Amino acid sequence: MTVDELSRIANRLRLDVVETVHAAGDGHPGPCMSIADIMSVLFFDEMKLDPQNPRWNERDRFVLSKGHACPILYAALARKGYFPLEELKGLRSLDSFLQGHPDMNKIPGVDTVSGSLGNGVAIGLGMAQGCKMQGIENYVYVIVGDGEEEEGIIWEAAMAAAKMKAGNLIVFADLNNHQSGGKVTELSSLYPVQDKWEAFHWHVQSIDGHDVAAIKEAIAQAKKLTDRPSLIACKTLKGKNIPYMEDNNAWHKRVPTEEEVELAREALKDKM
Ligand SMILES: [Mg+2]
Repeated sequence: MTVDELSRIANRLRLDVVETVHAAGDGHPGPCMSIADIMSVLFFDEMKLDPQNPRWNERDRFVLSKGHACPILYAALARKGYFPLEELKGLRSLDSFLQGHPDMNKIPGVDTVSGSLGNGVAIGLGMAQGCKMQGIENYVYVIVGDGEEEEGIIWEAAMAAAKMKAGNLIVFADLNNHQSGGKVTELSSLYPVQDKWEAFHWHVQSIDGHDVAAIKEAIAQAKKLTDRPSLIACKTLKGKNIPYMEDNNAWHKRVPTEEEVELAREALKDKM
C-alpha cells in the first residue's frame, strides 16, 4: 500500500474509534489516536496475517500492551475482515465479545489478553521465543505506552530479550507524554526513554510516530538485525487528528457527544 493509502486508513480507524466509543458510552479514545498510524502500517501493510484463519501458526503476532486502546485494535480487525464492522457498535456491552480490554479467547485476531499494564513486552518475548523454537520465520510486534514503561516487568523483559537475542521482536513505544494521571515527564518520568532501552542492549530508532513512511522504514531497518530486539521510539500526539482531543489528556477516557462525533467526521472527511 502507498503511504497516502495507509494514512487514510489510519484516519478511518480514528473515526471508527470516535463512533464506537460514542455508541458504547465508555472507553479510551485519546490513547487510540496516537497509535493509529502504527496500527495502519502493521495491519494493512506489514504483518503476515490471514483473517480467514486467525490462528494460522506461521502468522506474525501482535500484542497491544496498552490494552485500554483496544477500540482501535477492534476497528483494525473489523476492517481487515476478522469480523463484521457492525460488531464494533457492541463495544463494552454485555452481550458483545468486544469488551473494554481485549480477550484472546473471544475475539478472532487477538493474540493475547492485555490491559493489566506492563506485561506486553514479556508476553511478546515469550511468543517470539516460542515461534523461533518451532522454526517459524515471523515477527512479534508490541505496542507499549510511555506511562506504562514505569512498570518494572517491562525492564525484566527488556533484559531477557537482549540475552535471548530476540531479533524477531519489534516493540513500538508510543511516546505521547501522557498517562492516565497526567504528563509522564511530571510523574515518574522515564524520559529520555531511548537511553534506557539502549542500556538494555536493544537496537533503538527514534521516529515521528505519525509519519507512515518513517514507520515503514524503521520496521525495515529493525528486520535487518537478526540477533537484537528492536525498539522503535515513536514521538506521538495523544488525540492526533481529532482537533478537540489533540494533546488534551481529558480525552484519555471520555465519551464524545453527538456534536463531537460530527466535529470529528468534519475534521477527517477529506483525509480518509
Ligand atoms: Mg502515553
